[in-house]
Amino acid sequence: LLPFQLKCHVSLPSLVQSVLHIPAVFATCRWEEVSGYDENMNTIRTYQVCNVFDSSQNNWVRTKYIRRHGAQRIHVQMKFSVRDCSSIPNVPGSCKETFNLYYYESDSDTATKSSPSWMENPWVKVDTIAADESFSQVDLGGRIMKINSEVRGFGPVSRNGFYLAFQDYGACMSLIAVRVYYRKCPSVIQNGAVFPETLSGAESTSLVAARGVCVPNGEEVDVPIKLYCNGDGEWMVPIGRCMCKAGYEAVENGTVCRACVSGFFKAAQGDHKCLQCPINSRTTSEGATNCVCRNGYYRTDSDPSQMPCTTVPSAPQNVISIVNETSLRLEWSPPQESGGREDVVYNIICKSCGSGRGGCTRCGDNVQFVPRQLGLTDTRVHISDLLAHTQYTFEIQAVNGVSDQSPYSPQYASVNITTNQAAPSAVSIIHQVSRTPNSITLSWSQPDQPNGVILDYELQYYEKAEWNSSLTRSQTNTAVIRGLKPGTIYVFQVRARTVAGFGRFSGKMYFQTMTEEYNSSIQEKLPLIIGSAAAGVDLFLFLCFSFFCVCVYSCCLFSLSVEVSPGMKIYIDPFTYEDPNEAVREFAKEIEISCVKIEQVIGAGEFGEVCSGNLRQPGKREILVAIKTLKVGYTERQRRDFLSEASIMGQFDHPNIIHLEGVVTKSSPVMIITEFMENGSLDSFLRQNDGQFTVIQLVGMLRGIAAGMKYLCDMNYVHRDLAARNILVNSNLVCKVSDFGLSRFLEDDTSDPTYTSALGGKIPIRWTAPEAIQYRKFTSSSDCWSYGIVMWEVMSYGERPYWDMSNQDVINAIEQDYRLPPPMDCPSALHQLMLDCWQKDRNNRPKFSQIVSTLDKMIRNPNSLKAMTPLSSSVHLPLLDRSTPDFSSFSTVDEWLDAIKMGQYKENFANEGFNSFDVVSQMTMEDIHRVGVTLAGHQKKILNSVIPGAHGLCLL
Ligand code: AMP
Repeated sequence: LLPFQLKCHVSLPSLVQSVLHIPAVFATCRWEEVSGYDENMNTIRTYQVCNVFDSSQNNWVRTKYIRRHGAQRIHVQMKFSVRDCSSIPNVPGSCKETFNLYYYESDSDTATKSSPSWMENPWVKVDTIAADESFSQVDLGGRIMKINSEVRGFGPVSRNGFYLAFQDYGACMSLIAVRVYYRKCPSVIQNGAVFPETLSGAESTSLVAARGVCVPNGEEVDVPIKLYCNGDGEWMVPIGRCMCKAGYEAVENGTVCRACVSGFFKAAQGDHKCLQCPINSRTTSEGATNCVCRNGYYRTDSDPSQMPCTTVPSAPQNVISIVNETSLRLEWSPPQESGGREDVVYNIICKSCGSGRGGCTRCGDNVQFVPRQLGLTDTRVHISDLLAHTQYTFEIQAVNGVSDQSPYSPQYASVNITTNQAAPSAVSIIHQVSRTPNSITLSWSQPDQPNGVILDYELQYYEKAEWNSSLTRSQTNTAVIRGLKPGTIYVFQVRARTVAGFGRFSGKMYFQTMTEEYNSSIQEKLPLIIGSAAAGVDLFLFLCFSFFCVCVYSCCLFSLSVEVSPGMKIYIDPFTYEDPNEAVREFAKEIEISCVKIEQVIGAGEFGEVCSGNLRQPGKREILVAIKTLKVGYTERQRRDFLSEASIMGQFDHPNIIHLEGVVTKSSPVMIITEFMENGSLDSFLRQNDGQFTVIQLVGMLRGIAAGMKYLCDMNYVHRDLAARNILVNSNLVCKVSDFGLSRFLEDDTSDPTYTSALGGKIPIRWTAPEAIQYRKFTSSSDCWSYGIVMWEVMSYGERPYWDMSNQDVINAIEQDYRLPPPMDCPSALHQLMLDCWQKDRNNRPKFSQIVSTLDKMIRNPNSLKAMTPLSSSVHLPLLDRSTPDFSSFSTVDEWLDAIKMGQYKENFANEGFNSFDVVSQMTMEDIHRVGVTLAGHQKKILNSVIPGAHGLCLL
């Protein structure tokens, strides 16, 4: 009950009816302060008025100044009693049973006896208050029987304070108690946030918004957190909430966020409790948001934090291998230890061992794995297309999601196998060379995997409309099929045969014989040119002239098929394009840089580094690739020249031509991407494997190079730089012609001494035909000369042609008809082929097609390679300025052997009596064998030192 002071608006002292316990007294005076009792018989002071017999009453009583304390709405509770007018005998009609409540706002306590005036204005009326119950009589004990309680509110109030006033206008009443108060919502912690004490609004219906502040280590979720304080001082309508952040959990009824204790973690904001660390993990401090894995245990990025830490799997077990010819089935059991994970998969690593080269090397791309090589989920794989008679090691790796994090992974089981004899693989493509109304001449490439020496080919053919097939055999990879019907489509398939039997047939190819009319129309034209009709090969030569064939003469036979057989392409020089970029777009596929992963630098090219890497194009399996890059700071011309190689390469499609995968021109650095050739360039490969191959293997390499060159010739392309350094070798010893860049011929490039300046550009003198050196006559025939040099490089395991002779000496020697002698152990048939390639008159040099078939015959008949040019005969050939060995700088044979790095044979030389220079200088090939020098490379070294003429030049 607020203390307040009542004041009569009249200055006269009121009559005190202290003895009466009744609130209403018949009094003539106005408001009087009297003592009385409440209903519990406590002594109270009341104010009463009861002038019901006097009409026009207007009695006011006013409180003291009451400070507002920020409240906007004030509530007033009044306890009072009112006498029932009807219970007062003879009371006039002016008797009332109600009174009025007013308030007056003021910034300070300024009221006096006369101010504010005792009238409705300036006061503001709150309400007329009526008693719920009036009383009519007083019991004999003098107790008040009926006390009313009424509450009224008013607002908004804005001044510092206010007064209340009660106006009686003719009632008999007693004002017992007045309580003045405002409402507020107390400070509270709700939904994880602290809300400050907030006063209710000005109206009873007002809602006052209060922003909450999250408790320490709590965080707001989504929307700002709010509560509303209503007119009754109650919080309502909570919006938003706070939750304990990661590493903290809610305790004490959600009023505190407490840090997770050691060994417990909480990964994210939320209501949940801290969790115990999963197995194999621990915390490093309190309030942990995750548990770190113990040493040797790991998690992947996608492993949930409540998952135990895991480790790598152990090796697969119980590997079983079943070899079937050149295929292999591997089966194994899962590892004993999965590392606690369910995502164990298997990778197969294939290494081929032996095949003449030391150690094991990774298998090439051509080995097939079904269902796949990496990421196997089943414990079996089928591997095919292995080389016949080859030793392989397969590693079966067990890996799981955390293998890449462990230094001890992958664990693997390995198995060694040797493949058996196998039939050759299928011939991939058949070309039509020519046709007449009754015959078709076809050629095809050797199977990618001959798996032995090919004995012959079987050709099956039938009329497209019929099914009766005919068979024919061919010793070479060409065949003329005669006795066909004119203008008829025939279906052809070919397969190769080795001692292991037939390979699979090639896919079906359709070729049509010429119609009679077309044939005669050509024949009619012929007499105009030569005056007589011709058929077969002659016919094609004439056609070549009559159509002004653009090809080089030496390959006319084949380029004619460009005219007669649609689908055979001809090479287009990218520099004939007005915009060479157009040629790049036409012939080279643009590769998305994200598909290319560069692994390591493997060489230096003309324009920048050459790297190895991987190419993964959508929908294709990942392959190893070589990546040539264009170094930064290039000129527009360098870019054009660099990319011209791709425009040229992109036009070719042959197993013995390096295959272009595509180019990257839309990002930097600009790249040319080709298939990867595991054994690098042929010259260095041979030097590293000196004396390690059989003659048949070497001839096989030469055959591949010749087949590639024949294809280029057919395409009307002249290479100009055929040399072993520009041949690349893959893991199956397949040789492919590469290096189609033109820049090294340019005059302004001075970096490479192999290329010597000549009129109009640079020339690799030792490899180049004389007519090309003298008057730049580059043709397929000059490529043929270079091919002869490559043959010599191959048979001598990478020896430098003409050794250390100067370029000018080489030019002079050739001019005087000297030619390179047969390398050590070189079959004379091969040296003869070299000499044919080095014919002075280019028209007498063989065509590449002839070279291919000559080599094929040698492979089919290895006896033809047995005959060697006797060592003595080469010694007796006239020599070019070669001095006799100079033993004078050595005092003993041992010293000399050490000097030529052949010290390991010292004992053998001594045991066989070769202990003086006199006897050593008389050594024959037989002697060399006798002292136990069996490696061809070593024999050569010793012989070259003993008999310098062994590498002299032969006079043709
Ligand atoms: P190039 O600019 O073509 O002469 O390349 C320079 C060197 O990079 C060559 O001598 C090879 O050793 C190496 N190289 C080029 N292309 C390939 C490839 N496709 N595969 C493997 N090595 C290559």
